[in-house]
Amino acid sequence: MTVEKSADNSIELPLGETYPEIRELVRRLCSGFPGNYWRQLEESQSYPTDFVKALTDAGLLGSLIPEEYGGLGLPLGAASATLEEIHAAGCNAGACHAQMYIMGTLLRHGSREQKQKYLPGIASGQLRLQAFGVTEPTTGSDTTKLKTRAEKQDDHYIINGQKVWTSRALHSDLMLLLARTTPLNEVQKKSDGLSVFLVDIKSSLGHGLDIKPLRAMVNHNATEVFFDSLRVPSENLIGEEGKGFRYILDGMNAERILIASEAIGDGRWFIEKASKYASERTVFDRPIGRNQGVQFPIAKAYANIEAATLMVRKATALFEAGRPCGPAANMAKLLSSEASWQAGEATLQTYGGFGFATEYDVERKWRETRLFQVAPISTNLILSYLAEHVLGMPRSY
Ligand SMILES: Cc1cc2nc3c(=O)[nH]c(=O)nc-3n(C[C@H](O)[C@H](O)[C@H](O)COP(=O)(O)OP(=O)(O)OC[C@H]3O[C@@H](n4cnc5c(N)ncnc54)[C@H](O)[C@@H]3O)c2cc1C
Repeated sequence: MTVEKSADNSIELPLGETYPEIRELVRRLCSGFPGNYWRQLEESQSYPTDFVKALTDAGLLGSLIPEEYGGLGLPLGAASATLEEIHAAGCNAGACHAQMYIMGTLLRHGSREQKQKYLPGIASGQLRLQAFGVTEPTTGSDTTKLKTRAEKQDDHYIINGQKVWTSRALHSDLMLLLARTTPLNEVQKKSDGLSVFLVDIKSSLGHGLDIKPLRAMVNHNATEVFFDSLRVPSENLIGEEGKGFRYILDGMNAERILIASEAIGDGRWFIEKASKYASERTVFDRPIGRNQGVQFPIAKAYANIEAATLMVRKATALFEAGRPCGPAANMAKLLSSEASWQAGEATLQTYGGFGFATEYDVERKWRETRLFQVAPISTNLILSYLAEHVLGMPRSY
């Protein structure tokens, strides 16, 4: 593997294929889940249980959990390579990627007892912690205004409120929930007074917790979640009461980098499909790929995916070195989501009418990769972070 010093002093960026053994394992595993597997799931709005089981059995979903808790104890780059390769194979990790990283909040801020209680089960896949309840219907990206309340009563909290777009909640045992414990008008900083809880979904359903599927443009197992005086034991509070917003922010860089890796994988899938189709499809007695009007958008998309890959590698290297990586992680997500969308557009156009035929999977991947410009954070919010927090321009909100 070629290694190059980045401008960022001692940080080294791997330029060749990272984690070749993991990538090979993922490619082999994904070959058992071809396009028609994903199309059928979409038709029936079902969960990819077999696919998730295969990843779990291979230990890949527990790759970031330390060995002392039964995980593989690998660095973020290994998870990044896994997710990139899943998407480059035409599969979609959206059904289970959060099992890899939501546990980071528990790992960094949970008590020793909480870690011992939950992490081994999460590592083995017996316990699924892959639901993350932050977004609410009326407050959107303005997270600190969220209205879900958790009020302390003796040895438990009473939770009331609503979340929306909570992915995989019906396929999780546990949910990481962000709720307000101190009213907004009683805190000095709006980011204070928010707390993180582990909600035991299975035992709470029908006892103050209701979850309804939310049909969407992509099969993401999204849900709406309703809390009606749900009792959550105080021992399920993660870290200190009121510090939850900071804990959630701590986990966001890893999430951004991993989602960016999925976008890179999508981009690779599109570019391979488009180049092959353009070389084979003959119209006007010649391959359409001989026309530069067809070639250039694909070549451009390839250059942009390669450039975005470098930013993902930079963000990963900074993260692994424990260095500040917020700007790089956000730029990685921004650039890769735009590059994969551009690759999707070029591929759809290259396929012409056949791009709309579901059997080629181009339209499915095109819809799936569009999500990355909106979730887990929309492009505008990243741009305003860069403009205001990195470049020092005046705050807009
Ligand atoms: C399929 C799917 C799965 C999801 N999974 C989860 C999940 O598991 N858990 C979870 O908590 N959330 C989840 N989300 C929610 C997702 O994180 C949000 O949709 C996203 O953060 C945007 O928030 P919003 O939809 O409320 O948009 P809004 O905040 O209402 O924003 C709407 C538009 O306005 C723009 N905008 C808003 N304010 C500004 C501003 N000040 N300046 C410039 N532009 C602005 C935004 O960029 C956006 O384009 C999911 C969403 C989808 C679609």
